[in-house]
Amino acid sequence: MTEQEVGVVGAGVMGAGVAQDLAQHGFRPILVDVAPAALDAARERIRKSVRAESLFASSKPAVSSDQVLARVSATTRYEALSGVDFVIENATEDIDVKRPIYQRLDAICPKGCVLIANTSCIPITRLASFTKRPALVIGVHFMNPVAMKHTVEMIPGSKTSGQTIDKVKGLLEQLGKTCIVVKDSPGFVSNRVLMLAINEAIRLLDEGVADPDSLDGIFKSCFGHPMGPLETADLIGLDTILLSLEVLRDSFDDAKYEPCRLLKDMVAKGRLGRKSGAGFHPYA
Ligand code: NAD
Repeated sequence: MTEQEVGVVGAGVMGAGVAQDLAQHGFRPILVDVAPAALDAARERIRKSVRAESLFASSKPAVSSDQVLARVSATTRYEALSGVDFVIENATEDIDVKRPIYQRLDAICPKGCVLIANTSCIPITRLASFTKRPALVIGVHFMNPVAMKHTVEMIPGSKTSGQTIDKVKGLLEQLGKTCIVVKDSPGFVSNRVLMLAINEAIRLLDEGVADPDSLDGIFKSCFGHPMGPLETADLIGLDTILLSLEVLRDSFDDAKYEPCRLLKDMVAKGRLGRKSGAGFHPYA
């Protein structure tokens, strides 16, 4: 057990997942969010997720949800991160939200602390430019659900040092994860492709070409994908899909990334996918 403290900023879908995975590997995550309700919800999400894993995955070490949660501290105070070597940032996919976070982390965290951006689409070089430590900023695009996905996309920014890359590879190794390194570009590889596919699937649904089960069924039964694009969108969160498409559209100044009408309508109605209980499919 490492007992090392790691900062995790943002306690939504990904922050909760990252904190859970860290705790299950012996780290002591410090979860920071501006919303106390998000911190409470994250603890509940971790509890349910660890319980579900122990039911379905026999290979996981038998650590109870109480033991995992005992390792996770949750706070609204960024000052709690004044002694950590790594922070994994998972706040809302909006540059205006992330900018002040990087400025604050830069001011509070120790000089050598590495800032890891778990963003879907925002270029890492841009996030690094909000700090005075661009050599210590790197992108790691964790996959969802974090504890079940063992490969990540790693994105060094234009000024990320080789030492930072090595340090983060070491951290990922301790989490049992391997990485695929790609160059810094909006959406990287995964989301540049995935967000377009999801947007198009939602358009097909809106046009009445197929219902959600048929649409997802084609990807699962014909292509052998574990999930269809609408199920994937529900898992990610439709608000995050919308924000990601907006980042891509604005970054490339290309209308092909324009979020479709149905996606915007669903987000406006708070129908966000799994995290709100319903999206394209219902969730208990
Ligand atoms: P989410 O909406 O579920 O959670 C975002 C959290 O950030 C919320 O709890 C919010 O209160 C918090 N937040 C907002 N402002 C903050 C601040 N100033 N300080 C601290 N916390 C703040 O979103 P998510 O799905 O967890 O996504 C988080 C990040 O991870 C985004 O950049 C997203 O693109 C990326 N990502 C998401 C997925 C996915 O499948 N959902 C996968 C990989 C990466």
